[in-house]
Amino acid sequence: VYYIDPATPQKWRKYIKQGIEDWQVAFEAAGFKNAIIATGSSEVNLPNIEVDHQKVWNSTDALELNEIPKKLLVIGGGYIGLELGSVYAGLGSKVSIAEMTDGFLPGTDRDLVNVFEKKHPFQEVFFETKVENLKVNKKSLSVSLKGKEKEQKKSFDAVLVAVGRTPNTKELGLDKLGISPNEKGFTEVDLQRKTKHSHIYAIGDITGEPLLAHKASHEGRIAAEVIAGKKGAGYDPKVIPGIVFTNPELAWCGLTETQANKENKKVEVKKFPWSASGRAVAIGENSGVTKLIIDPETEVILGGGVAGKDAGSLIPEIALAVEMGTTASDLSLTIHPHPTLSETIMESAELFLGGATHLG
Ligand SMILES: Cc1cc2nc3c(=O)[nH]c(=O)nc-3n(C[C@H](O)[C@H](O)[C@H](O)COP(=O)(O)OP(=O)(O)OC[C@H]3O[C@@H](n4cnc5c(N)ncnc54)[C@H](O)[C@@H]3O)c2cc1C
Repeated sequence: VYYIDPATPQKWRKYIKQGIEDWQVAFEAAGFKNAIIATGSSEVNLPNIEVDHQKVWNSTDALELNEIPKKLLVIGGGYIGLELGSVYAGLGSKVSIAEMTDGFLPGTDRDLVNVFEKKHPFQEVFFETKVENLKVNKKSLSVSLKGKEKEQKKSFDAVLVAVGRTPNTKELGLDKLGISPNEKGFTEVDLQRKTKHSHIYAIGDITGEPLLAHKASHEGRIAAEVIAGKKGAGYDPKVIPGIVFTNPELAWCGLTETQANKENKKVEVKKFPWSASGRAVAIGENSGVTKLIIDPETEVILGGGVAGKDAGSLIPEIALAVEMGTTASDLSLTIHPHPTLSETIMESAELFLGGATHLG
């Protein structure tokens, strides 16, 4: 297996280049029997806003940490904007966020997002606001923020554009092999992560949402197992946890409340407030919340969410519960150590069954 990335040795690079023109020739010339395409995704750009990589950044530039601007505007209140915005706020920048919708993290359960919204480290937040124009001056950037009611001009030292990502499939010439990306640019694959070409597999961001590292590596493992001939290898997750590494962290997996409402699914949502968790109170995290989405008839755990410290480390228990078809009784009868934040998962299940140990 040859891993193809920018550090790929020169001798393989030429085949990759050939591959863009003619995959079959490249396969034969290089002696490859199979290929896994894992070209990832790139930043989406905004019309009228040119990323100059000096004062106007994309997320790759922001990760370079060349300077800590006094005033930074982040365009986009999705997970990348919030995470990078939080990093710069922590480093001393006065960070503002402009988000087109009416809140952070569109599509995410509001009760989870609210926990972050109450504690966010940003100086100013502009919701329902679009940035359509940006002027680069000698010393600063002048930006017009077009809100629902008014338009205002503000100046910043740097602007980070974080408005989404698009799969890197356009320049691969896949259509020559009958692997046409769909209308969103994603490559369609089967359960074995095989494309329409029987020797070409695709994994990671190019195969579709969610664009997350743990999904990519899991897919990579499945594709490699299939190629190696492992029986039964297939990609069939019930849940892929999503985590926003802000402070506090937000995490969810499986069916969300927002999704259940949208799809008119009958569910019971049980929330355990961290103000009733001894550990959360002791560490000053009482605004957190843990929730479970439960099938009211079968008691089966369908999904869940956590907002608060270490949410990303707590969510795998709920992910495992969903994968295993666990019921609320299973979770409530599993003794969780005291005093830990993990108890909040057990107690959410207890709430479904009648009453939680630490909540009246
Ligand atoms: C700022 C930021 C923060 C993130 N934080 C998280 C996080 O906390 N947790 C998480 O799970 N996910 C996170 N992600 C998402 C995660 O990085 C991606 O989902 C993951 O890297 C996708 O893996 P991949 O293998 O599909 O692509 P990538 O990891 O992007 O790798 C693709 C590689 O292919 C190379 N390439 C592209 N085209 C070609 C070509 N034609 N020939 C050769 N090489 C090529 C690229 O240069 C790149 O090195 C974050 C993303 C960003 C941008």
